[in-house]
Amino acid sequence: MSWNATVLTLFPGMFPGPLGTSLAGRAMERGLWSLEARDIRDAATDRHRTVDDTPFGGGAGMVLRPDVVDAAIAAAVPEGDARPLVFLTPRGVPLRQSLVRQLAAGPGVVALCGRYEGVDQRVVEARGMIEVSIGDYVLSGGELAAMVLLDACVRLIPGVMGAAESAEEESFSSNLLEYPHYTRPAEWRGLRVPEVLLSGHHAEVARWRRERSEAVTRERRPDLLTEQGRPGSTAGAPLHPAASPA
Ligand code: SAM
Repeated sequence: MSWNATVLTLFPGMFPGPLGTSLAGRAMERGLWSLEARDIRDAATDRHRTVDDTPFGGGAGMVLRPDVVDAAIAAAVPEGDARPLVFLTPRGVPLRQSLVRQLAAGPGVVALCGRYEGVDQRVVEARGMIEVSIGDYVLSGGELAAMVLLDACVRLIPGVMGAAESAEEESFSSNLLEYPHYTRPAEWRGLRVPEVLLSGHHAEVARWRRERSEAVTRERRPDLLTEQGRPGSTAGAPLHPAASPA
Protein backbone atom coordinates (compact mmCIF):
# COMPACT_ATOMS: atom_id res chain seq x y z
CA MET A 1 0.00 0.00 0.00
CA SER A 2 1.52 3.30 -1.00
CA TRP A 3 1.54 6.64 0.81
CA ASN A 4 -0.87 9.05 -0.87
CA ALA A 5 -0.76 12.82 -0.98
CA THR A 6 -3.56 15.04 -2.22
CA VAL A 7 -2.84 18.75 -2.58
CA LEU A 8 -5.66 21.28 -2.81
CA THR A 9 -4.38 24.37 -4.59
CA LEU A 10 -5.30 27.15 -7.00
CA PHE A 11 -2.15 26.27 -8.95
CA PRO A 12 -2.14 22.50 -9.57
CA GLY A 13 0.37 23.04 -12.41
CA MET A 14 3.06 23.73 -9.78
CA PHE A 15 3.01 19.99 -8.89
CA PRO A 16 4.86 17.68 -8.79
CA GLY A 17 7.55 20.31 -9.49
CA PRO A 18 10.70 19.38 -7.56
CA LEU A 19 8.90 16.40 -6.04
CA GLY A 20 9.05 14.74 -9.46
CA THR A 21 12.88 14.60 -9.43
CA SER A 22 15.64 12.91 -7.44
CA LEU A 23 14.74 10.81 -4.38
CA ALA A 24 11.02 11.73 -4.24
CA GLY A 25 10.61 11.43 -8.00
CA ARG A 26 12.25 8.00 -8.13
CA ALA A 27 10.10 6.85 -5.20
CA MET A 28 6.99 8.04 -7.04
CA GLU A 29 8.06 6.12 -10.16
CA ARG A 30 8.54 3.03 -7.99
CA GLY A 31 4.98 3.42 -6.67
CA LEU A 32 6.04 4.07 -3.07
CA TRP A 33 3.93 7.22 -2.96
CA SER A 34 1.47 9.07 -5.15
CA LEU A 35 0.58 12.72 -5.57
CA GLU A 36 -2.65 14.23 -6.83
CA ALA A 37 -2.96 18.01 -7.19
CA ARG A 38 -6.58 19.20 -7.25
CA ASP A 39 -7.71 22.65 -8.35
CA ILE A 40 -9.77 24.36 -5.62
CA ARG A 41 -11.38 26.42 -8.38
CA ASP A 42 -13.12 23.29 -9.70
CA ALA A 43 -15.35 23.52 -6.61
CA ALA A 44 -16.56 27.06 -7.42
CA THR A 45 -20.19 27.21 -8.45
CA ASP A 46 -20.65 30.57 -10.19
CA ARG A 47 -19.84 31.25 -13.81
CA HIS A 48 -16.76 33.32 -12.87
CA ARG A 49 -15.43 30.37 -10.85
CA THR A 50 -15.04 32.63 -7.80
CA VAL A 51 -13.12 31.15 -4.86
CA ASP A 52 -12.56 34.19 -2.64
CA ASP A 53 -14.24 37.23 -1.14
CA THR A 54 -13.38 40.32 0.90
CA PRO A 55 -12.66 39.88 4.64
CA PHE A 56 -15.40 40.64 7.16
CA GLY A 57 -14.20 43.45 9.41
CA GLY A 58 -12.37 45.13 6.55
CA GLY A 59 -8.71 45.14 5.65
CA ALA A 60 -6.62 44.36 2.63
CA GLY A 61 -6.73 41.28 0.46
CA MET A 62 -9.11 38.42 -0.17
CA VAL A 63 -10.01 35.28 1.76
CA LEU A 64 -10.77 31.81 0.36
CA ARG A 65 -14.44 31.04 0.94
CA PRO A 66 -15.34 28.25 3.39
CA ASP A 67 -18.05 26.74 1.16
CA VAL A 68 -15.72 26.48 -1.84
CA VAL A 69 -12.84 25.03 0.19
CA ASP A 70 -15.19 22.56 1.90
CA ALA A 71 -16.62 21.44 -1.45
CA ALA A 72 -13.07 21.03 -2.81
CA ILE A 73 -12.20 18.79 0.16
CA ALA A 74 -15.41 16.78 -0.22
CA ALA A 75 -14.66 16.21 -3.90
CA ALA A 76 -11.04 15.19 -3.29
CA VAL A 77 -11.30 13.15 -0.11
CA PRO A 78 -13.54 10.08 -0.05
CA GLU A 79 -15.73 9.37 3.00
CA GLY A 80 -13.73 7.40 5.59
CA ASP A 81 -10.35 8.57 4.27
CA ALA A 82 -7.99 8.26 7.25
CA ARG A 83 -5.44 10.80 6.03
CA PRO A 84 -4.99 13.94 8.17
CA LEU A 85 -5.77 17.28 6.59
CA VAL A 86 -2.98 19.83 6.92
CA PHE A 87 -3.51 23.52 6.23
CA LEU A 88 -0.21 25.23 5.47
CA THR A 89 -0.28 28.64 7.14
CA PRO A 90 2.19 30.95 8.90
CA ARG A 91 -0.28 30.89 11.84
CA GLY A 92 0.30 27.15 12.28
CA VAL A 93 2.46 25.18 14.66
CA PRO A 94 6.05 25.01 13.42
CA LEU A 95 6.77 22.00 11.21
CA ARG A 96 9.08 19.69 13.14
CA GLN A 97 10.62 16.32 12.40
CA SER A 98 8.36 14.75 15.07
CA LEU A 99 5.25 15.70 13.04
CA VAL A 100 6.96 14.64 9.80
CA ARG A 101 7.65 11.22 11.32
CA GLN A 102 4.01 10.86 12.43
CA LEU A 103 2.69 11.84 9.00
CA ALA A 104 5.14 9.59 7.15
CA ALA A 105 4.09 6.62 9.29
CA GLY A 106 0.42 7.10 8.35
CA PRO A 107 -1.53 6.57 5.12
CA GLY A 108 -0.57 9.96 3.64
CA VAL A 109 -1.76 13.53 3.86
CA VAL A 110 -4.23 15.97 2.36
CA ALA A 111 -2.56 19.39 2.13
CA LEU A 112 -4.52 22.62 1.71
CA CYS A 113 -2.59 25.53 0.18
CA GLY A 114 -3.81 29.04 0.99
CA ARG A 115 -3.44 32.10 -1.23
CA TYR A 116 -4.22 35.80 -0.76
CA GLU A 117 -4.86 36.55 2.95
CA GLY A 118 -5.64 32.91 3.71
CA VAL A 119 -8.66 30.65 4.28
CA ASP A 120 -11.91 31.32 6.20
CA GLN A 121 -11.23 29.95 9.69
CA ARG A 122 -14.62 28.21 9.95
CA VAL A 123 -13.74 25.53 7.41
CA VAL A 124 -10.30 25.10 8.97
CA GLU A 125 -11.94 24.29 12.30
CA ALA A 126 -14.97 22.40 10.97
CA ARG A 127 -12.68 20.04 9.07
CA GLY A 128 -10.33 19.59 12.04
CA MET A 129 -7.31 20.70 10.04
CA ILE A 130 -3.83 20.65 11.52
CA GLU A 131 -2.43 24.14 10.93
CA VAL A 132 1.26 23.94 10.10
CA SER A 133 3.86 26.61 9.36
CA ILE A 134 7.17 25.89 7.67
CA GLY A 135 8.87 28.90 9.26
CA ASP A 136 8.60 32.43 10.54
CA TYR A 137 8.26 34.18 7.20
CA VAL A 138 5.38 34.75 4.79
CA LEU A 139 5.25 33.04 1.40
CA SER A 140 2.82 34.13 -1.31
CA GLY A 141 1.06 30.76 -1.28
CA GLY A 142 0.99 27.40 0.45
CA GLU A 143 2.32 25.41 -2.51
CA LEU A 144 6.03 25.68 -1.66
CA ALA A 145 5.17 24.95 1.97
CA ALA A 146 3.25 21.83 0.90
CA MET A 147 6.25 20.71 -1.17
CA VAL A 148 8.51 21.14 1.86
CA LEU A 149 6.14 19.08 4.00
CA LEU A 150 5.77 16.34 1.37
CA ASP A 151 9.49 16.13 0.63
CA ALA A 152 10.25 15.75 4.34
CA CYS A 153 7.61 13.00 4.68
CA VAL A 154 8.36 11.07 1.49
CA ARG A 155 12.02 10.47 2.32
CA LEU A 156 10.91 8.71 5.54
CA ILE A 157 8.51 6.30 3.81
CA PRO A 158 9.97 2.79 4.18
CA GLY A 159 11.99 1.85 1.11
CA VAL A 160 12.49 5.40 -0.19
CA MET A 161 15.96 5.93 1.27
CA GLY A 162 18.61 3.29 0.87
CA ALA A 163 21.17 2.50 3.55
CA ALA A 164 23.40 5.14 1.99
CA GLU A 165 20.84 7.83 2.88
CA SER A 166 19.89 6.64 6.37
CA ALA A 167 17.80 9.02 8.49
CA GLU A 168 18.93 7.43 11.74
CA GLU A 169 21.67 9.90 12.63
CA GLU A 170 20.61 13.03 10.82
CA SER A 171 19.58 16.34 12.33
CA PHE A 172 16.56 16.21 14.68
CA SER A 173 16.61 12.38 14.85
CA SER A 174 17.23 12.70 18.60
CA ASN A 175 16.53 16.41 19.07
CA LEU A 176 20.10 17.21 18.08
CA LEU A 177 21.58 18.87 15.03
CA GLU A 178 23.91 16.60 13.12
CA TYR A 179 27.70 16.53 13.51
CA PRO A 180 29.80 18.04 10.67
CA HIS A 181 30.83 15.92 7.67
CA TYR A 182 34.18 15.61 5.90
CA THR A 183 35.38 13.69 2.85
CA ARG A 184 38.54 13.40 0.70
CA PRO A 185 41.03 14.96 0.41
CA ALA A 186 42.16 14.57 4.03
CA GLU A 187 43.94 17.91 3.67
CA TRP A 188 42.53 20.78 1.62
CA ARG A 189 44.05 24.29 1.49
CA GLY A 190 46.07 23.37 4.55
CA LEU A 191 42.94 22.36 6.49
CA ARG A 192 43.11 18.87 8.01
CA VAL A 193 40.12 16.65 8.63
CA PRO A 194 39.78 16.06 12.42
CA GLU A 195 42.33 13.30 13.20
CA VAL A 196 39.81 11.13 15.07
CA LEU A 197 37.89 10.56 11.83
CA LEU A 198 41.01 9.05 10.23
CA SER A 199 41.75 6.83 13.22
CA GLY A 200 39.46 3.93 12.29
CA HIS A 201 38.45 3.80 15.96
CA HIS A 202 34.65 3.49 15.77
CA ALA A 203 33.91 4.19 19.44
CA GLU A 204 36.11 7.31 19.40
CA VAL A 205 34.44 8.51 16.17
CA ALA A 206 30.98 7.97 17.67
CA ARG A 207 31.94 9.87 20.84
CA TRP A 208 33.43 12.77 18.84
CA ARG A 209 30.32 12.98 16.66
CA ARG A 210 28.02 12.97 19.68
CA GLU A 211 30.06 15.76 21.29
CA ARG A 212 29.99 17.85 18.10
CA SER A 213 26.21 17.30 17.80
CA GLU A 214 25.61 18.42 21.37
CA ALA A 215 27.92 21.43 21.02
CA VAL A 216 26.36 22.74 17.81
CA THR A 217 22.84 22.21 19.19
CA ARG A 218 23.70 24.09 22.41
CA GLU A 219 25.19 26.92 20.36
CA ARG A 220 22.60 27.25 17.57
CA ARG A 221 19.39 25.63 18.74
CA PRO A 222 19.26 25.35 22.54
CA ASP A 223 15.44 25.19 22.19
CA LEU A 224 15.77 21.66 20.73
CA LEU A 225 17.26 20.39 23.97
CA THR A 226 13.93 21.11 25.69
CA GLU A 227 11.80 20.13 22.67
CA GLN A 228 9.48 17.57 24.31
CA GLY A 229 6.14 19.13 25.11
CA ARG A 230 6.80 22.40 23.29
CA PRO A 231 4.01 23.86 21.16
CA GLY A 232 4.51 22.35 17.72
CA SER A 233 6.47 19.34 18.85
CA THR A 234 3.23 17.29 18.44
CA ALA A 235 4.94 14.43 20.25
CA GLY A 236 2.17 11.98 20.97
CA ALA A 237 -0.62 14.24 19.67
CA PRO A 238 -3.26 12.36 17.65
CA LEU A 239 -3.68 13.30 13.98
CA HIS A 240 -7.20 13.97 12.72
CA PRO A 241 -8.40 12.28 9.53
CA ALA A 242 -9.30 14.64 6.67
CA ALA A 243 -12.69 13.10 5.93
CA SER A 244 -14.30 13.88 9.30
CA PRO A 245 -15.87 17.34 9.53
CA ALA A 246 -16.17 18.35 13.19
N1 SAM B 1 -2.31 36.70 5.90
C1 SAM B 1 -1.53 35.56 6.24
C2 SAM B 1 -0.82 35.78 7.56
O1 SAM B 1 -0.36 36.91 7.81
O2 SAM B 1 -0.66 34.80 8.34
C3 SAM B 1 -0.52 35.26 5.15
C4 SAM B 1 -1.12 34.73 3.89
S1 SAM B 1 0.09 34.22 2.71
C5 SAM B 1 0.33 35.67 1.76
C6 SAM B 1 -0.85 33.18 1.63
C7 SAM B 1 -0.74 31.71 1.92
O3 SAM B 1 0.61 31.29 1.83
C8 SAM B 1 -1.19 31.25 3.29
O4 SAM B 1 -2.57 31.10 3.40
C9 SAM B 1 -0.46 29.93 3.42
O5 SAM B 1 -1.18 28.89 2.80
C10 SAM B 1 0.82 30.17 2.66
N2 SAM B 1 1.97 30.45 3.53
C11 SAM B 1 2.65 31.62 3.62
N3 SAM B 1 3.65 31.55 4.49
C12 SAM B 1 3.64 30.29 4.99
C13 SAM B 1 4.43 29.62 5.96
N4 SAM B 1 5.44 30.22 6.59
N5 SAM B 1 4.14 28.33 6.23
C14 SAM B 1 3.10 27.71 5.61
N6 SAM B 1 2.32 28.31 4.68
C15 SAM B 1 2.58 29.58 4.38
